[in-house]
Amino acid sequence: MKIFVDFDDVIFNAKRFKNDFIRVFARNGITRSEFENSYYTFQKKAQMEGRYYDPKKQVEVLRRRNRIDHEKLARDIDAFMSDLEKYVFRDVSNFLGNFKKKDLYLISYGHVKHQKAKIKGSGVRKYFKKVVISKDRKINIIKEVIRKDNFSPNESVILIDDRPEQLERAEKERKSVVTFHMCRPEGRYSDLICTAMDYEVKNLKEAAGIIKKEGMK
Ligand SMILES: [Mg+2]
Repeated sequence: MKIFVDFDDVIFNAKRFKNDFIRVFARNGITRSEFENSYYTFQKKAQMEGRYYDPKKQVEVLRRRNRIDHEKLARDIDAFMSDLEKYVFRDVSNFLGNFKKKDLYLISYGHVKHQKAKIKGSGVRKYFKKVVISKDRKINIIKEVIRKDNFSPNESVILIDDRPEQLERAEKERKSVVTFHMCRPEGRYSDLICTAMDYEVKNLKEAAGIIKKEGMK
């Protein structure tokens, strides 16, 4: 059995993280709307140039617009990003501990550099055989890994994600992937309806119970 686990809102409390991340900027004199503005300005520019979000580049945008101690802000961002363990949901280590490292894959959607920093700070890297950060659809990543890592055809493949569109797409393209829709009360998208999935769970403990009960191998 191979398990693909999404990062934001499944392993990591992305909502709390983002609020606290914005607070780092606030402590340095940047309001929430200034944060959002510079974030989107940077995102747009980065996208046009084929680059990814990087908080340090955002600091550069802010520096041009505001009188701030940009060096201190950059230092505060580094300090904040260095320890993100408190944003990892409490049931994560227990869940991952049930399985072998060789069977676990972390797949995350987003800006490579920033996601990498979040994953590193969270301390969960050690549980996974591989980490894939991509803006591609999850099912495409899974198919690619199945091929590259030579999965046996009779092995169960599980995807745990909070985004309905990713699960629906996976169901459509590869019915054999067992999909878990994660609806944590703390999740940013937990109120979105998923129209195609195998199981809906509120946490990883529940997911572990189903995997065990169904005897997935
Ligand atoms: Mg997610």
